[in-house]
Amino acid sequence: MNIILMGLPGAGKGTQAAKIIKKYPIPHISTGDMFRLAIKNETELGKEAKSYMDKGELVPDEVTIGIVKERLSQSDARDGFLLDGFPRTVEQAEALNGIMDELGTQIDRTINVEVEEEELMNRLTGRRICEVCGTAYHLVFNPPKESGVCDLDGGKLYQREDDNPETVANRLEVNLKQTAPLLDFYKNQNVLSNVDGLKDIDEVFSEVDEILQDL
Ligand SMILES: [Zn+2]
Repeated sequence: MNIILMGLPGAGKGTQAAKIIKKYPIPHISTGDMFRLAIKNETELGKEAKSYMDKGELVPDEVTIGIVKERLSQSDARDGFLLDGFPRTVEQAEALNGIMDELGTQIDRTINVEVEEEELMNRLTGRRICEVCGTAYHLVFNPPKESGVCDLDGGKLYQREDDNPETVANRLEVNLKQTAPLLDFYKNQNVLSNVDGLKDIDEVFSEVDEILQDL
């Protein structure tokens, strides 16, 4: 089973990925891990990617796609994989289809964990950090016993710059714009499944699992 997992920040994609690979014997392949491995192993492509990263530049598509191809060609991915964070554009999705052709296989399913923007805002802006010990709380999911105060040391809780509503709204907007054409692409290929990410974690997973069992 060759799976792509998609979802906006805060949708719970990471949690679902962990549950999928716990049940199914396929590697979880995230873009970050792929880059780290290629750089650590000092492959030609890894070295090339690093030279761009060191300059603070974006890694060009051809290098990224090369690294994806190297990774998906490895023996542990022969019977399937869970791809996470790639592709990000329709061009990359087309290149991925090319890689699949070369490997004599195909993308079986793209699973999109759907959560409406308002809920994502709630999830992503609710984090509060203790200014003394750094413990993270969440106003909804993991609130402190006393509002605004750390349970452990009475330290004041603050909101990180990254978590303020304006920054979060921007981040979501950028992500939405980026993923909409990709979702269309996979919909047109008849491999897109949307799951309702508003449900609780186990219910979302049973939806995901049902899709996977049908493959
Ligand atoms: Zn504290």
